[in-house]
Amino acid sequence: MPHIQQLDSHVADLIAAGEVVERPASVVKELAENAIDAGAAALTVEIQNGGMALIRVTDDGCGIAADDAETAFLRHATSKIRDEHDLEAIGTLGFRGEALAAIAAVSRIDLLTRTPGAPLGTALSLEGGTVVSREEAGCPAGTTMVVRDLFYNTPARLKFVKKDSAEGAAVFAAVQRLALAHPEVSVKFLRDGKQELLTPGDGQLRSAVYSVFGRDLALGFVPVKGSGEDMSVTGFASLPACCRGTRGYQHFFVNGRYVKSRTMMAALEEAYKNQKMVGKFPGCVLHLTTRLSAVDVNVHPTKQEVKFSSDRKVFDAVYYAVLSTLERDHTRPQAEVGG
Ligand code: ADP
Ligand code: MG
Repeated sequence: MPHIQQLDSHVADLIAAGEVVERPASVVKELAENAIDAGAAALTVEIQNGGMALIRVTDDGCGIAADDAETAFLRHATSKIRDEHDLEAIGTLGFRGEALAAIAAVSRIDLLTRTPGAPLGTALSLEGGTVVSREEAGCPAGTTMVVRDLFYNTPARLKFVKKDSAEGAAVFAAVQRLALAHPEVSVKFLRDGKQELLTPGDGQLRSAVYSVFGRDLALGFVPVKGSGEDMSVTGFASLPACCRGTRGYQHFFVNGRYVKSRTMMAALEEAYKNQKMVGKFPGCVLHLTTRLSAVDVNVHPTKQEVKFSSDRKVFDAVYYAVLSTLERDHTRPQAEVGG
């Protein structure tokens, strides 16, 4: 065996980037989450060629101060947590300080940002994680991140990228999940110049559901509301007659974060046990809200998996909330979601 040596930081960055940035959809998720953490009221996601040629995320959030602009792209650089105690109750979508460093390592980035109080903003460009230009610039308050030529310097990763249409579809799905997670934010999505989504950002989940799924599908959902020990469950779930042949319409959120949760899925489906046909699955948009300290989101780099302090409590809260919805009379469901 050759002797052991520590990898240089460039190689370490590329390895770390692989965990966070798998495809254009992961870039969009991270940038849009940053926009939401920045308190944006509106955010726009634009992509070209499935996001491989260009991803642009624009927000009207707090912006990045001139002094912080370069620091934001360093690994483990974050404004969201300060010490280990903050890990116990994470109230923001981001906290690892890894996304911008990871994205920058494998693309060309143009950042344009201004804090509301500053007369001028900052324009910063990076290639493969290295700053190549920086200047003051007039721009609206908020932040625009443009990511070009994703994986241009990592041919190994480039090989696994799918066709533009498949990558674009994955981006769209990620944007839809964010819109459903944050009905208080107006989310716009443009693919190759064509607008495919606009949510009003009026804070009503039903409005976001309507925009994302369209009228016909939205009419198949009924409202869910319930509470368990230390937690509440709200959202929408399919009428039994509107179950479908795929789980693709199941969306679970915990404290504003999209998650893949076996516990929540099992509870949902258990509630439909005697109501739906075999081989059909209910759709849902379910928000679980609980104490921050009751969920550990620091399980996986993309944070789509979370650990609950009690799976049993989560299961019961979801199960009873959905069951009570299904037991109500829904002979006139149209009035529930429509409009
Ligand atoms: P994290 O979100 O985990 O803190 P990121 O690498 O995604 O790490 O971002 C690093 C920092 O850059 C953030 O903590 C935040 O301070 C700043 N930042 C990134 N995007 C934005 C944005 N759209 N608006 C304001 N600040 C941002
Ligand atoms: Mg982030």
